[in-house]
Amino acid sequence: MSEEKSLNFIEELIENDLQSGKTKTLVTRFPPEPNGYLHIGHAKAICLNFGLTQKYGGYTNLRFDDTNPVTEKTEYVNSQQEDISWLGFEWKNELYASDYFDQLHGFAVKLIEDGLAYVDHSTAEEIATQKGTPTEAGKPSAYRDRSIAENLALFASMKNGELPDGACTLRAKIDLASPNMLMRDPIIYRIKHAHHHRTGDAWCIYPMYDFAHGQSDSIENITHSICTLEYVSHRELYDWFIEKLGIFPSKQYEFARLNLTYTVMSKRKLMQLVNENLVSGWDDPRMPTISGLRRRGYTPESIKEFCERIGIAKRENLIELSLLEFCIREDLNKRAHRVMAVLDPIKLIITNYTKGEETLIGENNPEAEDKGGTREIPFSNELWIEREDFMEEPAKKWFRLAPGATVRLKHAYIVQCTDYKKDENGNITEVYCTYIPESKSGEDTSGINVKGTIHWVSAQHAKTAEVRLYDRLFSVESPDSEEGDFKDYLNPNSMEVISKAYIEPSLVNATQNLGYQFIRKGYFSLDKDSTPENLIFNRTVGLKEAWKPKS
Ligand code: ATP
Ligand code: MG
Repeated sequence: MSEEKSLNFIEELIENDLQSGKTKTLVTRFPPEPNGYLHIGHAKAICLNFGLTQKYGGYTNLRFDDTNPVTEKTEYVNSQQEDISWLGFEWKNELYASDYFDQLHGFAVKLIEDGLAYVDHSTAEEIATQKGTPTEAGKPSAYRDRSIAENLALFASMKNGELPDGACTLRAKIDLASPNMLMRDPIIYRIKHAHHHRTGDAWCIYPMYDFAHGQSDSIENITHSICTLEYVSHRELYDWFIEKLGIFPSKQYEFARLNLTYTVMSKRKLMQLVNENLVSGWDDPRMPTISGLRRRGYTPESIKEFCERIGIAKRENLIELSLLEFCIREDLNKRAHRVMAVLDPIKLIITNYTKGEETLIGENNPEAEDKGGTREIPFSNELWIEREDFMEEPAKKWFRLAPGATVRLKHAYIVQCTDYKKDENGNITEVYCTYIPESKSGEDTSGINVKGTIHWVSAQHAKTAEVRLYDRLFSVESPDSEEGDFKDYLNPNSMEVISKAYIEPSLVNATQNLGYQFIRKGYFSLDKDSTPENLIFNRTVGLKEAWKPKS
């Protein structure tokens, strides 16, 4: 974060509130519903909420918004916590809206007692018809003017399980002519005989989102309740409940949600991909989930940098996936160890190398201040090189291998191609070279200049690994805005598996928390399913992209 960076509108607002004394201690919350794994959109909300209290003091709560018993699971609670911690944020209190069921119920009773809520036996369709339209006032339900005593008795029957699902609802009595449709007597409690992941079977009535969220904020003394723009029209209702209940005046502020190209960003849709086995799970490296990005090799720093760069806006927009890729590439450029791996191998045989073998030394990371230390790289007369680094009939400006051409073998010697062999299908199988003994990297006295450098792995020393190459999950920029089902737009080539790549032996010690640059091939990370016997690497991101951020 550079100091001269201008404040976003929420920071401005908070600075004003702190200066005027309206806010003494800043308290924010991150309120996920535990109905799926968190995605990069949530990361934006996490960075914003936790970032604000890191900057201005105060604290941030993690509150699970678990008022919908049917969709919520403990598995999701755990994964959401893991993801927030991995991003590097610490919550002050771990809280659950379901812990407030008693208090929320008490608030509902208070509204009834104040003549501000009633039990309605109208069906969903009746309620919908009575609601009217934005230009035409709604009509009162036949049950709107029941007595307080009758409402209290009926609400008690609802709570005591005496009524089946859907028999009636509790509605706030607000304003049937309000231009804001949400103010036309919204439902605040419904009957649902369902098991809850925390409260078990204690309740068979559950509060609606609007009756739970603001009051939970208020119970926790949240000063700035930050949510996405879909909730703008809910703000009036949020304020109404707080005012009528006379509880802590939390305030809601809205910002634009993150939308990213070539993916979808909704737990519900991501769940479909998981359930229909269109991906391997929530943490499939192609998923925009935090766990997917982690498995793909993204670092917390790269995700935070991305969130910082996109900033906080008041209007919806669509962010390029390539910006996210730019951020991880920049980060890995600083951290990743450089290694050599050959993904599509052909043999290179050095006919005049009589030493048998030798050990060369390679710097791990020329971009790092300490160069990341060094490693040993075994060299011998038979190497694997990349098929695409040899051309039988070289194109113009071809600086790699071709009959008669010279290249440098990275960290090693200059070689010149003398011959090659093909199989019956015309595929190159072997390339023959001679090497120049005086041209060893770092002590080159040959005086020969070559334009190309290629990577290689010594055939007798090489280890093998499975390598998974990923592409965009969808083949269109905005699958949500296309006609038909978003799943029709999945990219059929989003994953390519190379079952046997040759890797340099130092990679047997690879660990999951380090990224690796396979020289000239991209950034890779060890997959969580990798074992010493069966190494698996995921390509995090390629090395280059024409796109650069406007700075
Ligand atoms: P989803 O549709 O993916 O389930 P949601 O908004 O229903 O999203 P919640 O678990 O309710 O998911 O969200 C927790 C918090 O994360 C909310 O404050 C929400 O506004 C925020 N959030 C969710 N999606 C995004 C997004 N794409 N960009 C920014 N913030 C988001
Ligand atoms: Mg939600």
